[in-house]
Amino acid sequence: MDMKNLYRQVIMEHHKNPLNKGLVDDENYELVHLNNPSCGDDIKVQVKIENNIITDIRHDGQGCSICCSSGSVMSDVLKNLKVDEVLILINDFYKLLTGNNPNNPNLKEAVVFEGVSLFPARVRCATLAWKALEQAIINIKSKENL
Ligand code: ZN
Repeated sequence: MDMKNLYRQVIMEHHKNPLNKGLVDDENYELVHLNNPSCGDDIKVQVKIENNIITDIRHDGQGCSICCSSGSVMSDVLKNLKVDEVLILINDFYKLLTGNNPNNPNLKEAVVFEGVSLFPARVRCATLAWKALEQAIINIKSKENL
Protein backbone atom coordinates (compact mmCIF):
# COMPACT_ATOMS: atom_id res chain seq x y z
CA MET A 1 0.00 0.00 0.00
CA ASP A 2 1.40 3.42 -0.86
CA MET A 3 1.48 6.34 1.56
CA LYS A 4 -1.37 8.16 -0.17
CA ASN A 5 -3.73 5.24 0.38
CA LEU A 6 -2.54 4.79 3.93
CA TYR A 7 -3.18 8.47 4.64
CA ARG A 8 -6.62 8.29 3.05
CA GLN A 9 -7.42 5.25 5.17
CA VAL A 10 -6.44 7.04 8.39
CA ILE A 11 -8.61 10.03 7.44
CA MET A 12 -11.61 7.81 6.64
CA GLU A 13 -11.14 5.80 9.85
CA HIS A 14 -11.19 8.96 11.97
CA HIS A 15 -14.22 10.18 10.02
CA LYS A 16 -16.10 6.94 10.77
CA ASN A 17 -14.97 6.57 14.38
CA PRO A 18 -14.03 10.03 15.65
CA LEU A 19 -12.15 10.29 18.94
CA ASN A 20 -13.19 12.73 21.71
CA LYS A 21 -16.38 13.60 19.84
CA GLY A 22 -19.27 15.23 21.66
CA LEU A 23 -19.32 18.29 23.88
CA VAL A 24 -19.55 18.30 27.66
CA ASP A 25 -21.66 20.54 29.87
CA ASP A 26 -18.87 21.88 32.07
CA GLU A 27 -17.99 25.52 32.68
CA ASN A 28 -14.32 24.61 33.14
CA TYR A 29 -14.11 24.12 29.38
CA GLU A 30 -13.56 26.95 26.91
CA LEU A 31 -15.74 26.66 23.80
CA VAL A 32 -15.03 28.08 20.34
CA HIS A 33 -17.41 27.75 17.40
CA LEU A 34 -16.02 28.19 13.87
CA ASN A 35 -17.36 27.59 10.41
CA ASN A 36 -16.14 27.36 6.88
CA PRO A 37 -18.81 28.74 4.55
CA SER A 38 -17.03 27.63 1.38
CA CYS A 39 -17.47 23.96 2.34
CA GLY A 40 -20.27 24.03 4.92
CA ASP A 41 -18.09 22.85 7.79
CA ASP A 42 -19.39 23.96 11.18
CA ILE A 43 -17.62 22.79 14.30
CA LYS A 44 -17.30 23.47 17.99
CA VAL A 45 -14.18 22.71 19.99
CA GLN A 46 -13.94 22.60 23.77
CA VAL A 47 -10.73 22.57 25.73
CA LYS A 48 -9.83 22.17 29.37
CA ILE A 49 -6.49 23.40 30.68
CA GLU A 50 -5.16 22.45 34.11
CA ASN A 51 -1.73 23.53 35.38
CA ASN A 52 -0.70 24.54 31.86
CA ILE A 53 -1.58 21.11 30.44
CA ILE A 54 -4.35 20.48 27.93
CA THR A 55 -6.18 17.81 29.90
CA ASP A 56 -9.14 17.42 27.54
CA ILE A 57 -10.23 18.37 24.04
CA ARG A 58 -13.76 17.76 22.76
CA HIS A 59 -15.19 18.51 19.34
CA ASP A 60 -18.55 18.29 17.65
CA GLY A 61 -20.31 19.56 14.58
CA GLN A 62 -20.85 18.84 10.96
CA GLY A 63 -18.52 18.96 8.04
CA CYS A 64 -16.74 17.11 5.30
CA SER A 65 -14.60 14.07 6.00
CA ILE A 66 -11.39 16.15 6.05
CA CYS A 67 -12.79 18.59 8.61
CA CYS A 68 -14.28 15.96 10.93
CA SER A 69 -11.32 13.61 10.81
CA SER A 70 -8.94 16.51 11.39
CA GLY A 71 -10.86 17.39 14.58
CA SER A 72 -10.54 13.82 15.75
CA VAL A 73 -6.80 13.58 14.96
CA MET A 74 -6.19 17.02 16.52
CA SER A 75 -7.90 16.02 19.78
CA ASP A 76 -5.93 12.79 19.94
CA VAL A 77 -2.49 14.21 19.08
CA LEU A 78 -2.67 17.32 21.29
CA LYS A 79 -4.36 15.95 24.39
CA ASN A 80 -2.23 15.79 27.56
CA LEU A 81 0.48 18.08 26.19
CA LYS A 82 1.70 21.39 27.62
CA VAL A 83 -0.01 24.50 26.27
CA ASP A 84 3.23 25.94 24.83
CA GLU A 85 3.99 22.66 23.10
CA VAL A 86 0.47 22.58 21.63
CA LEU A 87 0.78 26.13 20.25
CA ILE A 88 3.99 25.09 18.45
CA LEU A 89 2.32 21.98 17.05
CA ILE A 90 -0.67 24.00 15.81
CA ASN A 91 1.76 26.31 14.00
CA ASP A 92 3.66 23.34 12.57
CA PHE A 93 0.35 21.88 11.36
CA TYR A 94 -0.36 25.14 9.46
CA LYS A 95 3.12 24.86 7.90
CA LEU A 96 2.38 21.29 6.87
CA LEU A 97 -0.84 22.43 5.20
CA THR A 98 0.96 25.12 3.21
CA GLY A 99 3.42 22.59 1.84
CA ASN A 100 6.26 23.35 4.26
CA ASN A 101 6.53 20.12 6.23
CA PRO A 102 8.29 21.07 9.48
CA ASN A 103 9.22 17.38 10.07
CA ASN A 104 8.06 17.59 13.65
CA PRO A 105 7.66 13.97 14.85
CA ASN A 106 5.24 15.15 17.54
CA LEU A 107 2.65 15.88 14.84
CA LYS A 108 2.25 12.09 14.72
CA GLU A 109 -0.87 11.06 12.78
CA ALA A 110 -1.59 14.67 11.80
CA VAL A 111 0.94 14.29 8.96
CA VAL A 112 -1.73 12.43 7.00
CA PHE A 113 -3.19 15.83 6.08
CA GLU A 114 -0.04 16.92 4.25
CA GLY A 115 -1.62 16.00 0.90
CA VAL A 116 -4.41 18.52 1.49
CA SER A 117 -1.84 21.27 0.86
CA LEU A 118 -2.19 20.42 -2.84
CA PHE A 119 -5.85 21.51 -2.69
CA PRO A 120 -5.89 25.09 -1.37
CA ALA A 121 -9.70 25.17 -1.27
CA ARG A 122 -9.65 22.35 1.29
CA VAL A 123 -6.92 23.71 3.57
CA ARG A 124 -9.47 25.51 5.75
CA CYS A 125 -11.35 22.20 6.16
CA ALA A 126 -8.23 20.60 7.61
CA THR A 127 -7.21 23.52 9.82
CA LEU A 128 -10.66 24.56 11.14
CA ALA A 129 -10.57 22.45 14.34
CA TRP A 130 -6.97 23.50 14.97
CA LYS A 131 -7.90 27.18 14.59
CA ALA A 132 -10.80 26.70 17.01
CA LEU A 133 -8.49 25.12 19.57
CA GLU A 134 -5.91 27.88 19.10
CA GLN A 135 -8.63 30.51 19.67
CA ALA A 136 -9.87 28.69 22.79
CA ILE A 137 -6.35 28.66 24.23
CA ILE A 138 -5.97 32.38 23.48
CA ASN A 139 -9.32 33.06 25.20
CA ILE A 140 -8.27 31.15 28.31
CA LYS A 141 -4.88 32.91 28.42
CA SER A 142 -6.48 36.33 28.16
CA LYS A 143 -8.92 35.49 30.98
CA GLU A 144 -6.05 34.36 33.20
CA ASN A 145 -4.26 37.65 32.64
CA LEU A 146 -7.18 39.71 33.88
ZN1 ZN B 1 -14.75 20.87 4.48
